Amino acid sequence: MEEKQQRAQTGGITLPRVNEFGLTFEPHDVVHEDVIVPLIDGVPLTEWLELHDDPSFSGVRREDLDAEPFRPGKAKLVLGCDCGIASCGPLVARITADGTTIVWDSFRRPHRGGRVYDELGPFRFDRADYEKLVLELG
Ligand SMILES: [Zn+2]
Repeated sequence: MEEKQQRAQTGGITLPRVNEFGLTFEPHDVVHEDVIVPLIDGVPLTEWLELHDDPSFSGVRREDLDAEPFRPGKAKLVLGCDCGIASCGPLVARITADGTTIVWDSFRRPHRGGRVYDELGPFRFDRADYEKLVLELG
């Protein structure tokens, strides 16, 4: 079932079972500073959303994230609204730690009609690599 979902996302290419996590900093069209964008298999999460016909997200400033960004939680902020006010229309995901793996799933936008992105993910990351990157954010 999950493999079928992953094939559907990528147009026929089967992804490895473990995804590669990264963080990048890119300029924001509205906020005149660099914002943090999660990378999944080298692809910015904003582009994954564009594949699902939703270009209305952008990266977030460090101060838009909570004290423990990208740590496990039921509804963790992973992208902000493209207007520059992250909390205006954020994308949240459920982040769970499972042994040596971190899983992102249950992507949804709590505001603005509450769209759920069931077809996005789950993504699995190597926990050690993931935590190293996330800890650098403080
Ligand atoms: Zn907005």
